[in-house]
Amino acid sequence: MRVESNFKYIYGPVYSWRLGMSLGIDPLSDKSKICNMDCVYCQLGKTVYWSHQRQDFVSVSAIIDEIKALPEMKLDYITFSGRGEPTLAANLGDMIRGIRKIRSEKIAVITNSILLDDVQVRKDLCLTDFVLAKLDACDEETLKSVDKVMQDVSFQKVVAGIKKFREDFKGKLALQIMFVAANKNFASQIAMIAADLGADEIELNTPLRPSGVEPLLPEELLEIKKFFNGQNVKTVYELERKKVVPLNERDTIKRHGNYKKQK
Ligand code: SF4
Repeated sequence: MRVESNFKYIYGPVYSWRLGMSLGIDPLSDKSKICNMDCVYCQLGKTVYWSHQRQDFVSVSAIIDEIKALPEMKLDYITFSGRGEPTLAANLGDMIRGIRKIRSEKIAVITNSILLDDVQVRKDLCLTDFVLAKLDACDEETLKSVDKVMQDVSFQKVVAGIKKFREDFKGKLALQIMFVAANKNFASQIAMIAADLGADEIELNTPLRPSGVEPLLPEELLEIKKFFNGQNVKTVYELERKKVVPLNERDTIKRHGNYKKQK
């Protein structure tokens, strides 16, 4: 049964192969995607509003009010993600603290890693249980061709940011690596960088929800997995996916892509 709701900032829940039952929070909640990247596979379409600057987009109290109004549901994670890069929300730390006071579920953030070189972003993310940090590239060139970052982003700074965060963070850190045609031939180099970052988990993905590029085949991803031998690896094709009825289907598709059209 489809349930419509008046929630503006929370969406889902969705069943995630990485998180289990996950309720999404969009701390940006703008009608346009707000990001410091424009990944070729982004399921949200082109980046309209480029930003590098942290700011408050939604008030903490607005998020907390919606969380308080949730119907009863069993969740594994409350996850910050949505229409853009969640670490751009300057009040992310206060949102996490506020949710901790009223919910017992674990809290996750899905980030593109760009702002991990910012000490305050690292402090905010240290308040969570699980951080899923993007690493799609092995150098400046692949970063620009796959993730189309803003001009002033250096690949070395991104890697250094993840490394510093690993030193600070006591929770679970996953590297989420999206493989498409543009970076599949760089898998061994990406695997070597990943091995040095000390993540608890490596998540090998390929875009199964509708996006601007075709996903790799299961056998291609399995070949890529071999380069990550010795690391704790999950791949999108190998894990269970379940269908869940979200609170509001249209809002969930707007933030999460069309989960119903997964191949
Ligand atoms: S996939 Fe994530 S990081 Fe990449 S453009 Fe889309 S919202 Fe930004």
